[in-house]
Amino acid sequence: MWPGSGLDLGPVWSLRARQLEQRLRTKEERIVVLETENALLHLKLAEYQGFAGRSTDEVLQLYSAHRQQQTLQSSSLVTQLHRAIQRLKQDLKSLHSFALELSKDFQHQCKTYLYQVLTAVQRIQLQNEAMQMFQIKAFDLEQSLQEVTERYEKEKHKRRALHNSLVELRGNIRVHCRIRPLLAFDTAAGHTIPQDRQRNFSEKVAYAADDETVLVKCNRPGHASINKTFQFERVYNASESQDTVFADVAPLLTSLLDGYNVCIMAYGQTGSGKTYTMLGPQLEENFAFSIEDESELGIIPRATQEVFRLISEKPPGSYWVEVSVVEVYNNEIFDLLAKDSCGRVFGVKRDVVTTREGKSDVPLLTYETVENASEFLHLVNKGLQLRVRHPTLVHAHSSRSHLVVTLTITTIVSGDNFGISWEDELTSQKRNKEVSCTFPQKMRENKSTFSSRASSPAQFETTEKPKQIKTRLQLVDLAGSECVGMSGVTGAALRETSFINRSLSALADVLGAIAEQRSHVPYRNSKLTHLLQDAVGGDAKLLVMLCISPDQKYLAESMQSLGFGTRARQVQRGQLKKKNLPVPSKAK
Ligand code: ADP
Ligand code: MG
Repeated sequence: MWPGSGLDLGPVWSLRARQLEQRLRTKEERIVVLETENALLHLKLAEYQGFAGRSTDEVLQLYSAHRQQQTLQSSSLVTQLHRAIQRLKQDLKSLHSFALELSKDFQHQCKTYLYQVLTAVQRIQLQNEAMQMFQIKAFDLEQSLQEVTERYEKEKHKRRALHNSLVELRGNIRVHCRIRPLLAFDTAAGHTIPQDRQRNFSEKVAYAADDETVLVKCNRPGHASINKTFQFERVYNASESQDTVFADVAPLLTSLLDGYNVCIMAYGQTGSGKTYTMLGPQLEENFAFSIEDESELGIIPRATQEVFRLISEKPPGSYWVEVSVVEVYNNEIFDLLAKDSCGRVFGVKRDVVTTREGKSDVPLLTYETVENASEFLHLVNKGLQLRVRHPTLVHAHSSRSHLVVTLTITTIVSGDNFGISWEDELTSQKRNKEVSCTFPQKMRENKSTFSSRASSPAQFETTEKPKQIKTRLQLVDLAGSECVGMSGVTGAALRETSFINRSLSALADVLGAIAEQRSHVPYRNSKLTHLLQDAVGGDAKLLVMLCISPDQKYLAESMQSLGFGTRARQVQRGQLKKKNLPVPSKAK
């Protein structure tokens, strides 16, 4: 029982104890279950822990393997890089040393060059100084050379003037020599030339050594080569122009108007340039000469121009000019200006006679008055078309005749102020009476105070009456001087050649006779010499223009021409006579 309450509580406490005992057993059972579960969990944990430990090991192993691999990889790249760097370093080193050497070399070379430049500069300076000295010397020398040249030119001039006076005093024949250039036809096979001289190439053997000397190289096969020289008043080389040739001829034309007769004749073999020199280049189609290209004109047209130029400086009407054109062919004289009844020009045979005064004259010869150079050229060209020619094998347009173009200049002077003798004038009047038919109408009209040349000599009875003085310019283009056979011609042409040769030897004989001062000069042996008698042996200023082909093929002919020229130079004809003319002042 519960103290104080008097109730018995045993059964309640026993129930309570049983319940608690029950609960304790349940709890204990639970603890056992939990302890079992716990043990199981421990086991599982241990299992997982073992598993985790193995995984960690594996991870660690893998990690270390990875690290090892990484280390391995990086170490090989580095070595490669390292090696490359090493190599680069080596290269750099060698480059550096090379650069060092180079720069040393460069410095060394720089020094050498600098030294060289310095020495060169010094040398140049020295040379400059020397050059300046030389320049001063050269200048001095140039000046003295110029002085000497001037002196030489003056002396040459004086010598020429003296020589000219001597030539005039002695009546020498002037000889100029022109050497033409080598031309295409020189190389053509010339079957007219003897076999030993035939060559198909040109070889120049004749030269102008200076302006007064011809040098000929005589190198004939089988003979020792010899150089021969020939002296003349003037020698022209192949490059000298028509202008230059004429410049030396021009003074003779002044003499013509001063009262001298003048004759210029071209001598030389066929093809040596006689016609070219006297007239100019010929036209292919009609054998006339070309008057188109003035620079190519020869002596005849230029001389005419010069004569008219000189006349233009004189008082108007005091001079007039007549022309005759004559050809000597096969020893016959033909008047190339003669006209038939219809006025056509045709060659008429004329004769040459000796007058009582011993002068040569061609009766009935046609003289045409010309008032200017172009009228003259027109006339001469007409006459030239009648000139006989024959194509020789040397040269297709070779002239087979001698051509003589004569310009007669008549000067009208009034009063007694000139010194020509009365008889001379009368004979001159008589000589020229045949030409009265061609006395210019214009002149007669212009000079109403004057009579024609056919007028009676009575016109000169008082000294106040006008007088006529005639001077003559004869321009001669001789036919080729080659030997017979040279031109490869036969028959009629051979006859022509033989006439040409005979007339040229007659010319040489005449010169020989004059040179030897023989009493008889054989002018009449040939019509050519007879016609040119006054010019060759008389009072004319005579210029022989020797024409030379420079080719070896023509050596014999060239030597023959040079020999002719040399002999001509030696001819002394005595002092030339001048027809005294007054010096009229130009009319204002
Ligand atoms: P020739 O009258 O002596 O027989 P040419 O005067 O007819 O000779 O000349 C022969 C050729 O040579 C012509 O064709 C001519 O034009 C030419 N000739 C002559 N001399 C010269 C020269 N100095 N310069 C150029 N050509 C020339
Ligand atoms: Mg000719």
